[in-house]
Amino acid sequence: MDINLLPTLLKKFFAMLTVLSLLFAGIGGTGTETTETEIKNVIFFIGDGMGPNHLEKTKAETGEELFMDTLPVQGFSKTSNYIGGVTDSAAGATALACGIRTANGRVGVYITDPFAYASYPMNLTELCMERGMKTGIVTSDSTAGATPAGFSAHVFQRKYTEDITKQQLASGIDLIWGLSTGLVTPEIVAETGYKYVESMEDILALEDGDKSFGQFTNELWRLAGGSSYPTLSQLTEAAIDLLKNENGFFLMVEGAHIDKHSHSNKAEEMKEALLEFDKAIQIATEFAMAEGNTLIVVTADHETGAIKYKNGAYEFTSGSHSGANVPLRVYGCNDFIKPGQAIKNREIPVRVAKALGFAESAFPRTIDAAA
Ligand SMILES: [Zn+2]
Repeated sequence: MDINLLPTLLKKFFAMLTVLSLLFAGIGGTGTETTETEIKNVIFFIGDGMGPNHLEKTKAETGEELFMDTLPVQGFSKTSNYIGGVTDSAAGATALACGIRTANGRVGVYITDPFAYASYPMNLTELCMERGMKTGIVTSDSTAGATPAGFSAHVFQRKYTEDITKQQLASGIDLIWGLSTGLVTPEIVAETGYKYVESMEDILALEDGDKSFGQFTNELWRLAGGSSYPTLSQLTEAAIDLLKNENGFFLMVEGAHIDKHSHSNKAEEMKEALLEFDKAIQIATEFAMAEGNTLIVVTADHETGAIKYKNGAYEFTSGSHSGANVPLRVYGCNDFIKPGQAIKNREIPVRVAKALGFAESAFPRTIDAAA
């Protein structure tokens, strides 16, 4: 026997031993298995434009604590688009929904096939529907905005709002609630089988199994002011109530106005929108703590306004998006990331799918457009 082969054979022998011991541990159980709960529900929060300094500015200037700071797993998301540039909300949502990076302006399509002639990437909503989970989208933006579109449509351009709305009303998603696009009437929506809702009363009148399309006209991003109009956090609570079922659910909630008020450098409004978004996170996390088996993910698609700390204060330094890493906070999966770790935006939905127990081959996945 060739003496040089010996180390190789030994290595193979020990590798085999390792595999065998892992197998036996898997079959027999050792009595010391981790008690990581199985995730059944996912509530995925996107604070549009919310960088780390949006949180710092809000806390410093309002004196409020943020609930999202109490989430046990904390790190960052790296937000670039396909070419490594600063992303917009369309490419950002595509990364967070589909697990792939694309060009700015594109929604749920590959950079190499922007019209989805041959194929497009599956989004998390579609993945969860395939398993029989209920699904929902709640946003303070228009229902056809880039972020909700990333989780419910596949189009060449975010401005194709009619196509986005058409795809949403054919999607089978159980609830899609946001600001009115002005593109549909209650009659048009009814023809698709969806119930048209525009008030909290309409939502409370929904029956089990109803699919609903919400077209609200109040400012959903504002903190509740005692009037009867719904706010983002109230819609979040109502959505959870409707989606809760034994097969689990996936809900995406977007706080859109952290971005909008950062573009215009309106600090007071930005802080109010962020506090209302944080309230929605608290409601969802309290549900998760009571219910168990629920994953809460909080992140942003990109930072807006390049908020910097200078001369003792957090100030906007631009009216555009920046490439800054954004917060990533998780409840319900302690090994989602390592403490303080920064992962790519497109990695986040992949880890959500994994937490839900999907096989690695299930997501990200390419859908044949011709099929
Ligand atoms: Zn923006």
